[in-house]
Amino acid sequence: MDSSRFGLSAARVVPLAALALFLAAPIQAQETLLTVAEASDFTKTSLHEDVLEFVAKLQGSSPLVRVETMATSAEGRPLPLVILGDPAPTSPADLRYDDRAVVYIQANIHAGEVEGKEAALMLARDIVRGLTADYLEDLVILLCPNFNPDGNEKISTRNRTNQVGPDGGVGIRYNGQNLDLNRDGMKLESPEAAGLVENVLRRWDPVFFLDSHTHNGSYHQEPVTWTWGLNSNGDPGIFSYMADVVLPDITRRTREDYGFLTIPHGDFIDVNDPGAGWIPLGPQPRYLSNYVGLRNRLSILNEQYPYVDFRERVFGAYNLFRTFLDYLQENKEEVVALVRDADRRTVERGASADPGEFAVEFDPRPIDFHITIEGYEMEIVQEEGRRPRARPTETLRTYDDVPYLADWTPIRTVTWPNGYLITAQDRDVVDKLLQHGIAVERLMEPVNLTVEQFSVSEATGSPRLNQGHYNTSVTGEYSDIEKEFAEGTYFVTTAQPLGAVAVSLLEPESDDGMVYWNFFDRYLAAQWSAAAQVYPVYKLKSPVNLLTEIVGK
Ligand SMILES: [Zn+2]
Repeated sequence: MDSSRFGLSAARVVPLAALALFLAAPIQAQETLLTVAEASDFTKTSLHEDVLEFVAKLQGSSPLVRVETMATSAEGRPLPLVILGDPAPTSPADLRYDDRAVVYIQANIHAGEVEGKEAALMLARDIVRGLTADYLEDLVILLCPNFNPDGNEKISTRNRTNQVGPDGGVGIRYNGQNLDLNRDGMKLESPEAAGLVENVLRRWDPVFFLDSHTHNGSYHQEPVTWTWGLNSNGDPGIFSYMADVVLPDITRRTREDYGFLTIPHGDFIDVNDPGAGWIPLGPQPRYLSNYVGLRNRLSILNEQYPYVDFRERVFGAYNLFRTFLDYLQENKEEVVALVRDADRRTVERGASADPGEFAVEFDPRPIDFHITIEGYEMEIVQEEGRRPRARPTETLRTYDDVPYLADWTPIRTVTWPNGYLITAQDRDVVDKLLQHGIAVERLMEPVNLTVEQFSVSEATGSPRLNQGHYNTSVTGEYSDIEKEFAEGTYFVTTAQPLGAVAVSLLEPESDDGMVYWNFFDRYLAAQWSAAAQVYPVYKLKSPVNLLTEIVGK
């Protein structure tokens, strides 16, 4: 493919020896700030030290750049958050009456998937140098080029050997705690995910989030894929905006404006029948893109295609980032209004007499927009002692009108309450809610309320460890009771912008909530009597006025 289509950076690769010369001369430095990928002709990727050095040089060269530390990794490495603005804000308070929109892009969460790291650095440089559209007229852009520095430092040619380059190897998937950071959206056990929530999502509150990865799945020709926050307990207005407006628009823009093809992220549901359907990852908010969607923000999962050359993957990510920035700049007012309305709808829902239902089981169904996949004729190979597997032939084939099964439709629901009364006094439960930014209150006087209780029939631990947890699932009965709640009982209203996150955490049958992640294990089995154990979180099913105080950190 013609590399000039990929923007100015592709032509700016210079040999390493020349780079060293220029770096020694400060006057020239502005012209020659190259990423490790560019300087090595896309045979290597940056170490964390290279990222820090690049960010420092960029900041040193421009007033449009500020830098914060958004987290310190498990092994003690700082994660720089690069803040681009004109003027660059010193804190979110500078933006209180500013009409620029704040957007956020992060990369390298799985540190074998390094394209976004290189692309984010290149993009920061090219925005600052005026080589892209003038995004900073309308946007404040936050970038985290290396979300998993601990994984990144374990670069080896033995990691992700199935992908095409870089020849110098890549890092590993997990962080310094052996955790997959893209399973940490709800439990927030890693300093990296905790820092994201505290110092980016809560502090800067970006209207847009993008998490950049590389996939390992079905064979196709498009170098870049992406999808959005897919949890159907989130705001339906944002979901339909993404599916009906943003998806067709971005698909068109990448092709027409940047000369490359994208499809939504997914895999064939049946490789023997590729036209049958294309399915994305599940809707659970442990995946950060789904989590941020539940927070009522536009949220993108970006996955590069591993079987195209590393250079093409880096420029694919780079140009996808630009495509979204183009979209956000042109549609800033619409996007800001959308997330503001979603927050307002969520609050109104929690305050209403009938907040509706919360989905605990889902079934994937097609959205209206069907997709075209530029794929291959497939063949089945049977190697001795292995299961038959499909692999692409050399014959190209277009699969038209493929259903995209991104609508995770609820098939079982429970009541979405007006609030929760938490009788367990465990501080780790309250702290976890506060960590997400959920408002927690405390009763200032005893009160008698009609509530729904959940009596546990069975609590089961998963047979295998998952991210250090034997996940708990419960079955049981819901019943309406009158109950006296003592002064000091915790109260969580769902009439707050993070209402959907609160419900997802506190519902006992939530497939990604605090029960699932073991916060309530000690309350779920009858140890001290034969009576069924009652889950110590009660659901308020009508709006009431309570005398409370807000719990601080
Ligand atoms: Zn990944």
